[in-house]
Amino acid sequence: MRDIFENGNSNNEQQKKTNNSKYTLWMNSILRRSKEIGKVELPICSIILDERGRCIGRGVNRRNINNDPLGHAEIMALRQASLIKNDWRFNECILITNLEPCTMCASALIQARMGKVVFGAYDKKRGGLGGSINLSKHKSSHHKMEIIGGILEEECSKILQLWFKKLRAQK
Ligand SMILES: [Zn+2]
Repeated sequence: MRDIFENGNSNNEQQKKTNNSKYTLWMNSILRRSKEIGKVELPICSIILDERGRCIGRGVNRRNINNDPLGHAEIMALRQASLIKNDWRFNECILITNLEPCTMCASALIQARMGKVVFGAYDKKRGGLGGSINLSKHKSSHHKMEIIGGILEEECSKILQLWFKKLRAQK
């Protein structure tokens, strides 16, 4: 399944591993921040890197904090990065997040012309980039993004599973 999400030359496995290792560093920091926000919100954090690899946007889930149905981590990161960038186009940028973006966020990323999206855990129920539906490959998509899923997949899934388990126990 994972092959579907990785574009480029599959014969260059070593190169791919080297390229992906830089995402695991970012993913570890995303997971630390997710655990922190997990005390009040769904533990999701997203960051956006510019063409030089600098972090220009960071967002956590703020739906409950802000009473905002659009308050997903990806949207928060996009808003911050577009302010810093002073542009709504992200062709040369990378968004990294611990859970596969939902359909709303996947659409927003297509609208933002994000160059690449990297995520940890797949969301088979609500994922908009392959887990449930792949909007980046849908005929309605005017912009094709590179998608890499499954970075630190186990760790990313575990944090979310624990969070939902805790939520169920509280009910
Ligand atoms: Zn979302």
